[in-house]
Amino acid sequence: MKKKKKYFYLKLLLVLIVIIVILLILKFKIFTKEDYSIELIDNLNIEINSAITNLDLVKSYKNLEIVSTEEKIDTSTLGEKTINLVIKDKSDEQHDYSFNINIVDTTIPIIEGKEEFSTTLGNKIDLLAGVNVTDNSNEDIEASIEGDYSFDKVGSYKLYYVAKDSSGNEARKEFSLEVEDANLVNDEPQDDGQEEVIEFTTSKGFKGVTKNGVTYIDGVLVVNKTYPLPEDYGNGLTSTTTNAFYEMQAASKLENLNIYLSSGFRSYSTQDRIYNNYVARDGKQMADTYSARPGHSEHQTGLAFDVNQINDTFNDSAEAKWLANNCYKYGFILRYPQGKEDITGYKYESWHFRYVGVDLATKLYNNGDWITLEEYFGITSSYEE
Ligand SMILES: [Zn+2]
Repeated sequence: MKKKKKYFYLKLLLVLIVIIVILLILKFKIFTKEDYSIELIDNLNIEINSAITNLDLVKSYKNLEIVSTEEKIDTSTLGEKTINLVIKDKSDEQHDYSFNINIVDTTIPIIEGKEEFSTTLGNKIDLLAGVNVTDNSNEDIEASIEGDYSFDKVGSYKLYYVAKDSSGNEARKEFSLEVEDANLVNDEPQDDGQEEVIEFTTSKGFKGVTKNGVTYIDGVLVVNKTYPLPEDYGNGLTSTTTNAFYEMQAASKLENLNIYLSSGFRSYSTQDRIYNNYVARDGKQMADTYSARPGHSEHQTGLAFDVNQINDTFNDSAEAKWLANNCYKYGFILRYPQGKEDITGYKYESWHFRYVGVDLATKLYNNGDWITLEEYFGITSSYEE
């Protein structure tokens, strides 16, 4: 009996010793864990082509020294990438530390293109010809068209440009296509070889000619309240105009400015709709100060367009100031300058530009004191009524 009790106490003592030793080991381990730590930034999904270094990825570290020198990470390709760091602990021992990052693309492409197209029945136009898509990745991204339309059916179509990069980021931009009845075009009198030509000389001595309802002065197409266009004239911005615009837009980008087309070509029927909406809202007298009657809009020439916000909030923007002082270098004029309302017949429009070629544009720029087409040629701008 006595012997049995002695054994029991011995066993108990042994168990106690083992428990104490285990606790000591655990305690020691916990201490060392707390002493050294390295914490990486929360999101190791890094956007493609972003400028980042290996040390930017470390959020914090404790009781360690990062031995690696700062190095730019190549973020030009998508996918996983292993980053290696060399760290040193308190005992001056160096360790390799490596982890993975993921290069991703989450930015949607930017689409630039015309917002309005107009054509006549059966006359196909290339809706993607002037579209420009850019993206932060290095991929070539193509735009496509979404929506149903037919060049063989009269209608107003609401369509979308769609651009998708290989990571699935998709951009969409709305535009409209008007397919109009071609009868007017087919019945044109000049098809029978009957050209109507009226020649005249302006008050400043320039030679003018009106051919089948289209007026050129000194070779420059002129449209204002005095000089209209025939109903069937025009079918989109001319390539000279869009090319010059894109050149100007590229130059403005270097100045960190964002200039985009808001309204380009407008057909006679589109302008008819727009003008009559304004007349219904503000009355004819008021509408005539800011909107052209159908056939009198420069937008029907294919040589004029509006950029950015088409209202007075654009007037004081950096973009408007830059355009007013630089557009002439690309062949454009500020068509309706401030203070020339009685001459042009329209209120100041900081957003409306007209292509006339670099030579004439430079003359009209006049070191910032814009001369209007009406003043330069010596012509009027007023409706017959
Ligand atoms: Zn305009």
